[in-house]
Amino acid sequence: MHSDPSLEVDATEIWKLAAASLGVAIVLVDSNGRTVYADYLDKFGQKGFAQRVLLDRAVSGIKRDGKSGIFRQQALEIFGPPRSYFQLESKPLGKEESPSFVVIIEDITARRHLEEIRRDFVANVSHELKTPVGAIVLLADAMSQETEPDTLLRLANRILSEGDRLAHLVSDLLDLSKIEETAIDLSRKVNLLELVAEIVERSTPPASEKQITIELSAHLEDPEIEGERWQLSSAFSNLVDNAIKYSEPGTVVAISLEETGGGVVVKVMDHGIGIPARDLHRIFERFYRVDADRARTTGGTGLGLSIVRHVIDNHHGEIAVSSTEGVGTTFTLTLPRSAR
Ligand code: ADP
Repeated sequence: MHSDPSLEVDATEIWKLAAASLGVAIVLVDSNGRTVYADYLDKFGQKGFAQRVLLDRAVSGIKRDGKSGIFRQQALEIFGPPRSYFQLESKPLGKEESPSFVVIIEDITARRHLEEIRRDFVANVSHELKTPVGAIVLLADAMSQETEPDTLLRLANRILSEGDRLAHLVSDLLDLSKIEETAIDLSRKVNLLELVAEIVERSTPPASEKQITIELSAHLEDPEIEGERWQLSSAFSNLVDNAIKYSEPGTVVAISLEETGGGVVVKVMDHGIGIPARDLHRIFERFYRVDADRARTTGGTGLGLSIVRHVIDNHHGEIAVSSTEGVGTTFTLTLPRSAR
């Protein structure tokens, strides 16, 4: 076959380019067993002595086997800290008895971490669904054997409340996955004051049932920001719902909007039960509840604040929380006018 001399490139250079674009490290060993190129220590050896030594040992073992014509894959787990995972694989580069070969080393820590998060998430969702579904089955079974009207009514009401809980959980899960997956359309403007006023109007009846008053104050010239209305609405609704849910009757929930350099600050302040200091850094995690027993009675899913955090991240904003048990909680959201 005719070969074009202008295309003749050193094979090592091709491997280097391929490795760089794939984000992996490589070791090239020629047919005499000499290492002609290795970049794994440059690429992955910077995260501490232990990682360097363990990677070196694993690569030496796989090279030794390669020189004897054995090509294989190997997983390497480095306990750290930081904990990290590598995948090593050797491949022959010819068909002769002792061919040259390449060892490909990939840092799969991020991938493993994502898999762990997904596994935990599936386990959590299954657990959360199992509880109300199990209760509905038991209650329906009890109903089928009951004839007394008062008891039947009581059981039916409990099925209704478990069903509500299930519907709430599924709707929060759908919101969360939509918010995580959808890029926000920044060409739209959202009037934050209008949006928060709508939420206050919607939340006033359930608040009044608990004798809670919602007060809204705004000190800003321009209430518009770039963002996604339904996402912001979901975030503020969650914060206001929580403020009502975790407040004592007869108290005030205060919402304020203020101007800040290049953005808007929204505060949602309640005089409720507060959040213990030891839980404050975890409340934005999915399914995290300060008090699981209390959440059962309030119908909380533990997803509300993770929805809030995602929405604020999508808008390149910031969220802060300060709370004192028995005194109250303030969530402070800072949203830039432009989220570009
Ligand atoms: P939930 O659906 O359980 O309310 P969230 O993600 O909205 O879940 O909140 C997580 C936890 O943080 C809640 O279970 C609750 O314990 C606590 N929390 C959230 N907001 C408040 C608040 N305003 N006052 C007191 N505790 C709160």
